[in-house]
Amino acid sequence: MQFRDLPKQYEVLKSQIDAKMLSVAASAHFISGPEVKELEIAIAEYVGVKHCITCANGTDAITIAMRAWGVGKGDAVFVPDFTFFSSGECPADEGATPIYVDVDSGTYNIDPVKLEEAIQKVVAEGKYNAKAVVAVDLFGLPADYPAIKEICKKYNLLLLEDGAQGFGGSIDGKMACSFGDISTTSFFPAKPLGCYGDGGAIFTDNDEWADLIRSICVHGKDTSNPNDPNAKYYNIRIGKNSRLDTIQAAILLPKFKAFVDYELSDVNKVADWYTEGLKDTGLVLPEVIEGYYSSWAQYTVQLPADVDRKEVQTKLKAVGIPSMVYYAKPMHLQGAFKGTDSANADCPVTEKLCATVLSLPLDPYKSKEDVNLVVSELKKAIR
Ligand SMILES: *Cc1c(COP(=O)(O)O)cnc(C)c1O
Repeated sequence: MQFRDLPKQYEVLKSQIDAKMLSVAASAHFISGPEVKELEIAIAEYVGVKHCITCANGTDAITIAMRAWGVGKGDAVFVPDFTFFSSGECPADEGATPIYVDVDSGTYNIDPVKLEEAIQKVVAEGKYNAKAVVAVDLFGLPADYPAIKEICKKYNLLLLEDGAQGFGGSIDGKMACSFGDISTTSFFPAKPLGCYGDGGAIFTDNDEWADLIRSICVHGKDTSNPNDPNAKYYNIRIGKNSRLDTIQAAILLPKFKAFVDYELSDVNKVADWYTEGLKDTGLVLPEVIEGYYSSWAQYTVQLPADVDRKEVQTKLKAVGIPSMVYYAKPMHLQGAFKGTDSANADCPVTEKLCATVLSLPLDPYKSKEDVNLVVSELKKAIR
């Protein structure tokens, strides 16, 4: 069994994807070709934001947002302790200090009560300027934006939604990647909507930031006159080279259609099968709050504390079932932050999660039989 069956997805979409890839090869419009614009328009409309700017990957997307806001030395950026490294790496890369905040043990997302406590502490100490929050839609579930937005407003903080795992999720019908002042996503192959390499996107309703982001993505080009063919070589700021390849945009077009047409609902069906099969097993199952819709980047359970996770993984592997540990280390304990103020965090929930979580094979192409097999073998393995 595949952990995430990308070969199966390719088999289903092969004729469309092959045709798109070959047409880009034939056109030789490899950088900023028409498919890039077509994709940006389509996904901006789907998400319900004014601007979508694609870029090279989800990490660049966060970094570019931070740069557009001028986040830097002396700034504190609040980040969940339980996430992929990029969420904290990017503000740190811009010179800011990530302040790690504990998460909710049911949703795995940043705990708004602890977020407000962390902000108050930073404000009271006065060492850093409380600047922004990076909220993460972990494993596909949108963070608690109603509460987080309220807090950001109260303390005058910018909100970045790291939707790398969240594309397709929603709260009361409002789509993920529309909740931040700027929101970002990733098209890394294993994400809910993935391409065939690296890719990412940045979303905002703010015209000025959108313009600035487009400039930063292409070496700080002058965007004031888009019809001037030389404008690309008028560099008005230091930028980056961060673009989505035309071929990746072309691959994403049919994949996005499949995602909207059936993949997102199918992966929810597979997740429901897991939830049904694993209830009453003593495992803590991922919580989806009323009104929230997950894009199920992962289906992550918590094993009882007395169960040896390595042993469970070995037993599953022996019967052909892959499993993963997302994530084994809290952000504040990562070696990169050793000796910095980012290492001083009180996050007992994250520490417990890192010791007990296990992510199970999941994708829209899994059958009921696949799920039944994982469920019965997992039950055996934890007995
Ligand atoms: C994958 C991921 C990223 C980074 O995306 P890349 O495209 O791999 O750079 C950022 N944040 C989170 C939460 C992610 O899962």
